[in-house]
Amino acid sequence: MLNKNILKIDKVNAFSSASAYVREYRQQHPERDVISLGIGDVSKPVVKPVIEAMHKAVDDLSDMSTFSGYGNYYGIPELRKAILDNEYIRYGFTTEEIYVSDGTKSDCTNLLELFDVNSRILLRNPTYPIYRNAAFALSREVYYTELDENFRMIVPDEHYDIIFICSPCNPVGTAMDYTELTGWVNYALKENACIIFDNVYRAFVSSPDVPESIYEIPGARKCAIELRSFSKTASFTGLRCSYFVLPKEIDSVLFKERTINRFNGASYVAQKGAVAVFLPESQKLIKENIRLYKENISYLRTSFEELGFEVTGGIDSPYIWVKNREDISSFDYFRKILNSINVIIVPGAIFGSKGEGYFRVSGLGTIENSRIAMERFRKYYEEKN
Ligand code: PLP
Repeated sequence: MLNKNILKIDKVNAFSSASAYVREYRQQHPERDVISLGIGDVSKPVVKPVIEAMHKAVDDLSDMSTFSGYGNYYGIPELRKAILDNEYIRYGFTTEEIYVSDGTKSDCTNLLELFDVNSRILLRNPTYPIYRNAAFALSREVYYTELDENFRMIVPDEHYDIIFICSPCNPVGTAMDYTELTGWVNYALKENACIIFDNVYRAFVSSPDVPESIYEIPGARKCAIELRSFSKTASFTGLRCSYFVLPKEIDSVLFKERTINRFNGASYVAQKGAVAVFLPESQKLIKENIRLYKENISYLRTSFEELGFEVTGGIDSPYIWVKNREDISSFDYFRKILNSINVIIVPGAIFGSKGEGYFRVSGLGTIENSRIAMERFRKYYEEKN
């Protein structure tokens, strides 16, 4: 008997269906210069000190005196220590509470296995679709928070067991400030719930009132697991390496047991590269890449606003969330924009029913492409008006 819950995943309003449409369009019109403002992937290569560390790691594997094999289920000690020393020692954690993995996408699903199958899972709508799809595939019940007019999640009156919070948020591009996050931590403490705090875009934060980590909020270590990734910050989207903090107050036994039986650890080469991410010379180059992405999203935000669009986000994340200017579905708008001006945007419906009427734009591409794309948008609306 197969797991039919996987079929609950919406395949019509999915990234894959938008990608299939783009693929077909490109095949039919090879002469057209299609520009993507939709990409969630990066446009800057892995920085040189990280590449050099990975070359060295490959050589380690050629000699049994430096070879690394099975056994590092939760990450090589050197990487767990580098993560702790650079990011989490200030909150009083130990290496035992740091877990390295092969991507936050997998972590979002894997962590659900720590909790009872009857746990009630609370998400925002629109949401990063993986939280929802992971829950469906593992037969967990999903509920959605109400949002206020600024797309902020409203703390509910009812009980939920697990709350996924993505901040800075994909797709709406905003980040929770201290007050908002404190509200959620207090809710979780009161309800004995757990927050899975997806903080993969933390490097994009510039607002002073946005906490760098959920553990800046008193009591969070009793109720929050924080996820981070090397994907967007250090261009590890293809390399695959992520990490999370699972405080001992929540669990120090079950997830380790689960992992030993399910996962043989992230790639040694990727992990050695990740250690080098923390070198000062890497950090300098990575910060410059982030600065360019932020400049790009800021340009896109201003350009859409100048064209009369309602725009959210883009200050503390690489994404903006834009309201359609035409009264058609988000997939129809996506198709229309692709066909009319050869620009790819991400239809809001991919992120949930409340994403209908919106589209997501990414600043992870290049500013040169953004300029061309916005010029096309400008002409398109000039001709329409
Ligand atoms: N979490 C969010 C909110 C994301 O937007 C993404 C990727 O787009 C991920 C997690 C996936 O990260 P990783 O590449 O580490 O699997």
